[in-house]
Amino acid sequence: MSRYSEIAANLASVQSRIGAAALAVGRTPEEIALIAVTKNFPLSDVEILHELGIRNFGENRDQEGLAKSEQLSGDSRWHFQGQIQSRKIKSIGSWAGVIHSLDSLDHARKFATLTQFRQREFFVQVNLEPARVDRGGVALESLEDFISDLHAESGISPIGLMTVAPVDSPAQAAFSALKQAQRRLIPDFPSLTHLSMGMSGDFEEAIYEGATHIRVGSSILGSRGLPA
Ligand SMILES: *Cc1c(COP(=O)(O)O)cnc(C)c1O
Repeated sequence: MSRYSEIAANLASVQSRIGAAALAVGRTPEEIALIAVTKNFPLSDVEILHELGIRNFGENRDQEGLAKSEQLSGDSRWHFQGQIQSRKIKSIGSWAGVIHSLDSLDHARKFATLTQFRQREFFVQVNLEPARVDRGGVALESLEDFISDLHAESGISPIGLMTVAPVDSPAQAAFSALKQAQRRLIPDFPSLTHLSMGMSGDFEEAIYEGATHIRVGSSILGSRGLPA
């Protein structure tokens, strides 16, 4: 099978699963943005996905995202979902239209100095596993303070919350916790209308719990080998 037909078949299967999951909870697939996570895969795969109609691409590393976004035609939207490094912010802000992994006021202040700042959208990453500080994200208990400080110090009104499900507990419970946090915060922070949650292993559960953005890599492109 050619790479094109392999990716086309995987994508069709993911899209039909998205449709079925949405239908099961009375949602429509149009409410759910599928971000194809292309990290560790070549530009040629990105081009195939583009030909197949995909316009949202996710990357975890600045250099890789910058290179691919420069080489693909201009009608795509690039999402940054990796850990943010301070010295990379200027570059990330040059190509990523949506940042899913904001979890630091320092970083937010830096983003706010960029010329493209007004065209950028931000999710606040939430860490639902407080024991795992290495995973990045704001703890649930600190979320409200973080979002008010964020607005006060950088002018950022985040468009939603993002999380990566814990590895050792049920994903759907985590996604439900994120949804509840959104419900609790939205009266004070009405911009928080989106939820970025769900990857290859758990995007259906995320859709059940209200995901508006799912970030899917290996189900579409296959195994990455080394994790990014
Ligand atoms: C790699 C990655 C994904 C995609 O993971 P798959 O399991 O390949 O679908 C989604 N979100 C984040 C933050 C990632 O790092």
